[in-house]
Formats: sequence, C-alpha cells, structure tokens
Amino acid sequence: MSEPGRGDHTRAVHGPDPERAGAMSTPLVRSATFSFESLAELMREQERGAAGAYYQRLGHPTLRAVERRLAFLDGADEALLFPSGMAAISAVMLSRLAAGDHVVAVRQSYGGTSAVLRWGEERLGWSVTLVDGADPDSWPAAFRPETRLFHAESPTNPTLCVVDLARAAQAAHAHGAVLVVDNTFASPVGQHPIALGADLVAYSATKSVGGHSDLLAGVVAGPAALVRAVARVRTVFGAAPDPETAWLIERSLKTLPLRVERQHANALALAHRLAAHGGVARVHYPGLETHPGHALAKRQMTRGFGPVLSFELAGGDAALEPFLGALTLFRHGPSLGGVESLVALPAHTSHIHLTPSQRRAHGLPDGLIRLSVGIEDEADLWGDLERAIDRAQVAVGG
Ligand code: PLP
Repeated sequence: MSEPGRGDHTRAVHGPDPERAGAMSTPLVRSATFSFESLAELMREQERGAAGAYYQRLGHPTLRAVERRLAFLDGADEALLFPSGMAAISAVMLSRLAAGDHVVAVRQSYGGTSAVLRWGEERLGWSVTLVDGADPDSWPAAFRPETRLFHAESPTNPTLCVVDLARAAQAAHAHGAVLVVDNTFASPVGQHPIALGADLVAYSATKSVGGHSDLLAGVVAGPAALVRAVARVRTVFGAAPDPETAWLIERSLKTLPLRVERQHANALALAHRLAAHGGVARVHYPGLETHPGHALAKRQMTRGFGPVLSFELAGGDAALEPFLGALTLFRHGPSLGGVESLVALPAHTSHIHLTPSQRRAHGLPDGLIRLSVGIEDEADLWGDLERAIDRAQVAVGG
C-alpha cells in the first residue's frame, strides 16, 4: 500500500497499491463478458458486483483499477465510474430517492442538475426545495421530515458561489439526510468534501479529471454501503462506462495535480488582470479578495480556486459578439477543466435549459462570460483576452 502520508502528486502517479514490477499502466481489457472453469467460480465473480469480472455492466478489471485510484484520491472507501457526470449525479439521486421523498438543493447548481431534479418532480414524485448556497442560515428551514438528500456544489457553475460544505453536512445530518457534493470545479485533488463531512461526492470527470477534452465520464465516491446502492442503479439502468474511458481516466489521473495547479494559477492571474481592466464591469472568482466566498474558499479548497472564472464586459450584451470574434487562442465552446482554454456564454450553454427569468433568479446575467483556463502560458492567454476586450470596447464605441 502507498503510505497515507505521501503527497498528492505521488498518490496520483502511483495509486493505492503501486506495482513494483510489470506493466506501468493497467492493462486495457476489452471484454464485455468473462468465462469460468466452474459454476462456483462464475457465481463468485457475479457476487463481487462492481469489484468482479463477470459481465461488463456489473464490473470490469480496467474499471475497477481506476475506481480504486479514484477512491484513494477522494479519501473514500469506494468509487464508481460512470459514462458522464450527469449519469453519476442522477444515479445517486435514484439510489436515495423514492416517490414522496424531498430534496434540498443549492439553487446556483449546474443547469443539468436542476434539470434532473425537475424531472424527478414531474415524473418520479420527488419534491425539491432550492436554497441559496451563499446563505447557510437559511438552509435548516428548508428541511422536512421526508428530506433524504441535500445536494450541494462548490464552487457553482458558472456563478462561482462558494458553499460552506461543513455547514451543509451539519444541516443534512441534523435532519437525517445525506449530503452529496458535486466536486467538479475543484477536482478530487483541489477539495476533499468527504473530509469536510459529505456522505458522497458525485462529479463530472469529463472536466479536470479527464482534462484533455477527449472523453465523458463521471464519478461517485463514498462509504461502501452508500456506493453499493449507487452501483445497483448503475447495473439496473446500464450506465457502465467502457474500458477505454476507464483507461484514459487512469492515465489522466497521474497528471491531475500538476494540471490543476497550473490551471488554477493561470485562472487567478487572469482574474486579477481582468479585475484591473477598464473594459470589464465585474469579475467572479473565489480567488479574488473581493469575492464574498474568498475566505471560505481559502479554507476548503486546497490547491487554488479552480479553473473557471466568469466576468461581465463594461460594454454589456452588445460587446459580446465582438469580444468572442476577436479571440484567437481561447476557443469558443462548452465544457471546462481541459488543458485548452475555453470561453462560453452560460446563458447559451450550461443554463440553456432555463428561461431568462429563471436564469436571473439563479443570479446569472445573460451577458456573463465564463472562462475555463487551461495550461497555456499566462502571458499568451492574457494577450488574447486583452486584445479582445479592447476590440469589443472599440466596437461598442467605448
Ligand atoms: N456538474 C458540473 C458542475 C458541471 O459543470 C457539469 C458539466 O458541465 C456536470 C456536472 C455534468 O457533467 P457531464 O457533462 O460529464 O455529464
């Protein structure tokens, strides 16, 4: 076993049980099914569920290897890989909630999460109360005797609200509910929700964990009993990732702390530069001292403040097209956490499911620009942004 006191870079490279000899990476086993010498052997693998090698939808050796690494980094007993972040988040909800149950969720959460919750209300008999992630004093009043789950995300996408995860755990546990935390923005090496009291983490591994904009994946991690219930949902609904995705995630995990440190440092530098530019009206980034969640983010995020920042141009909505059109390095598209820097307008991507008035209720101005900062040279990134902001100002006569 790797020694528990070793640093995150070492843990990310070597995983929980480093091999001293043999293949340097886990063999990619491309097999949907497995065969056995005897009925007893078949039944033994079948009973091992996600840990076994019986039929790929239940469990698979390449998946298992990466799940053990993920559990190790998340500080959890067990982890499960999913074919997307939304598959992971919805499997957690399906594992905990039945008709008549109630959920408390942070209002600022990712639009896809809001969509699952609405689906559950419309089709599955759940009820949902949304709370302000920035106002922990308001949370206890939202709980009811039938509340089973508190869903939180921190920092939130894309308004970068920082949610007090220890207080969220207290509120959930005081009312007999589990706390589930979407840790997508910080990644498992940038924030440890389980250590802060969360029962489960459920996040997108498409973002920083995968990190190269070449795969979709999601993760659930936590104690064995809770994860077993989620594994049952994965098996029943068939949301098993393919072995190649698992293998790519294992490869990506080895450089996760390196990439995250670089991305978070670039994002902080750009946030400061944007805040000082006259063509920018507002910058949202927990790394800025002016951000309302700064002190909390400093306490609960361990490796900087995340790869994502958002801002509003002084020229308003009219400046958006000229700004986007002038960028040459930032690529315009959805997603985040990859090595390439991206720019997106959340009103047209992650929060497109919401009506304009719902977006305003989420504290999301239609002119908000979200940046996902990659690992490029910071001077090049700033050069690109500065030129585009200047061009946008000229275009709107600023
Ligand atoms: N959670 C957050 C915070 C996200 O930003 C996203 C996607 O952008 C998801 C979950 C969903 O992840 P996926 O696209 O892998 O399903």
